[in-house]
Amino acid sequence: MSCIFCKIIDGQIPCFNILDDDKTLAFMDINPVAPGHALVVPKCHTPDIDDAPAEWLGPVMASVSRVAGAVRDELSPDGINVVQANGPGAKQSVFHIHFHVIPRHLGDNLTMNWDLQPGDMGEIGKLAERLRARIG
Ligand code: 5GP
Ligand code: ZN
Repeated sequence: MSCIFCKIIDGQIPCFNILDDDKTLAFMDINPVAPGHALVVPKCHTPDIDDAPAEWLGPVMASVSRVAGAVRDELSPDGINVVQANGPGAKQSVFHIHFHVIPRHLGDNLTMNWDLQPGDMGEIGKLAERLRARIG
């Protein structure tokens, strides 16, 4: 198994998880573009939106909605983007479908092609705790 997100789902690689149910996992992005940046994935390997089985998309979007709600309630951003990339031209770098939940702030000037910058793991861990508790 070479997929990094399959390894996270399998517990071979640690993550700051915030939601874990039968079909989906949500965890903090380790290169956050904003504090609270989270990822939501199905627990089945599928590279992108073209191949994604319909029966997995419903549960994934339900989890995206729960994570976005927790981000809104816990962090009070000015807005939230849900972003999903398909293919290198869209800057997809991990080929296991995932949805970014990104808190946005007026004037943050975030562009679509953000560069990956490692975050502070202590801060990410604390935010994960808050969001996990909020999701319940
Ligand atoms: P993409 O560029 O494919 O839309 O997004 C992939 C995301 O996965 C990036 O934002 C990147 O920071 C994140 N990522 C890559 N490797 C890891 C990892 O090992 N752990 C976590 N939590 N996030 C990762
Ligand atoms: Zn995978």
